[in-house]
Amino acid sequence: MKYGFLIDHGKCIGCHACTVACKSEHDVPIGTNRTWVKYIEKGAYPDTRRYFNVLRCNHCEDAPCVTICPVTALYKRDDGIVDFDGRRCIGCKACMQACPYDALYINPYTNTAEKCNFCAHRIETQIEPACVIVCPVQAIVSGDMSDPGSKISRLIASNQTQVRKPEAGTRPKLHYIEADQSALRPTEQTHAAGYLWAERSLDPMLADDQAFAAAAARARTTYDVAHERPWGWKVSAYLWTKSISAGAFFVAALALGLGFAPGQWLFNSASPQVSLVFLAVTLALLVLDLKRPERFLRILLTPQWKSWLVIGGYILLIYGALLSAWIGAMILGLSGVLPYLIWSGALFAALTAIYSAFLFRQARGRVFWHSAFTPLHLLVQALVAGASALVLTGAASSLLTGVRWQGEGFDFLTYQLAGALIAHFVLMTAEVFMPEENVEKSRAARLISKGLFARWFWGGAVVAGVLVPLAALGTGLVRNDAIAIAASLLALGGLLIWEHIWVQAGQAVPLS
Ligand code: SF4
Repeated sequence: MKYGFLIDHGKCIGCHACTVACKSEHDVPIGTNRTWVKYIEKGAYPDTRRYFNVLRCNHCEDAPCVTICPVTALYKRDDGIVDFDGRRCIGCKACMQACPYDALYINPYTNTAEKCNFCAHRIETQIEPACVIVCPVQAIVSGDMSDPGSKISRLIASNQTQVRKPEAGTRPKLHYIEADQSALRPTEQTHAAGYLWAERSLDPMLADDQAFAAAAARARTTYDVAHERPWGWKVSAYLWTKSISAGAFFVAALALGLGFAPGQWLFNSASPQVSLVFLAVTLALLVLDLKRPERFLRILLTPQWKSWLVIGGYILLIYGALLSAWIGAMILGLSGVLPYLIWSGALFAALTAIYSAFLFRQARGRVFWHSAFTPLHLLVQALVAGASALVLTGAASSLLTGVRWQGEGFDFLTYQLAGALIAHFVLMTAEVFMPEENVEKSRAARLISKGLFARWFWGGAVVAGVLVPLAALGTGLVRNDAIAIAASLLALGGLLIWEHIWVQAGQAVPLS
């Protein structure tokens, strides 16, 4: 069986009965929706036309929300319905990033993700979904798309139908008849501060994006619902602390493995401690960002192995164990085991740095994050963060204790930091300036280079975060401990700014 919907926009009268019936059937809280009717208008007075667009979960055949969910709270039933189980949900919001159609919301009472589930409880008793029953013009048809004799199959066979964002590769099972193209594509619409029955203030990111989008838009939105941007500062901070944790040990392992300054306390002793502390902060941020933080262990105990949240969780766990083993061996004087831990630790440090690239790629709705450079860029960011953290640790301890620490190890760190900063600069500008045909990607990039984030990007991520530290390294000024501390702090600050901009710009362009 393959349950799907067909919605005829030629018949729809925009009465919102489907929205209300759904709210009543599922007790959907105020401010959230499982299905809603968006109005868009085209043309100029007196030649205007209004279009209705009924939006909801597409019950995708290849559902990215199911793939990314770490605890199988979202799952596909044998009859093709994509359903959810709030009792399993940990509130990570990854499904909201994965869905290209903005179909999920967080229930403010249960703090778990919900969406249209095709009224599965009604289907099981042979009753059609509430929205189908209530529609006064029979604009919504539901049924088994694998049965050629079903009403939905016959209508799809005899009409030209469209789906939303076919390029996302999700194979939606929600088809539309007579849908206007600009109604299906949010990038072809503008959002204004005022709607038909409402005034609202556009958040600055959307306002800036809309100012740019207006020139290309073919329609204006005149009625819509609120849309949440799921990931905030905790996700940016998690990327940053993870870079420091991964980079500090990776850089030290490179130095020790390649024979630079063997035994120097900074590489042997300080680096695993710095890495472990920042790993603990990373895990704390991940847990605190969950809407149901008390359920975080489910990621490890009831894992859904296709999700990079699960794979990443185990990578962090093993990395933490290797760091603890290293510190334990140092304390117990078991230096014989350290050579065995160097390369396994370096491998898991690298995996810790880059796995997020694959997690962000699973966020199929957010194409700005899908750059082929991202894994390499995350590794380079870890090198910047790790080298900066170690220079900072060495210089700070030298200032506090009066014991000179600079030497062969310092030279290794500064060369490595300079190289990583240059690579970070190249990859950062490639992500922002590489010509891009995808409109969502190019609009997110424009927000960074010329829009709302431009001041932070140029002033913070580029000048303060890369050029000033590079100048200090290039001129040798960094040999002064105070300047070394300032340069490292600037490099780390620039990285944090870049990671925050990258996370936010990736979510800026509306999905529906
Ligand atoms: Fe529904 Fe979105 Fe999941 Fe597709 S990805 S099944 S539209 S929630």
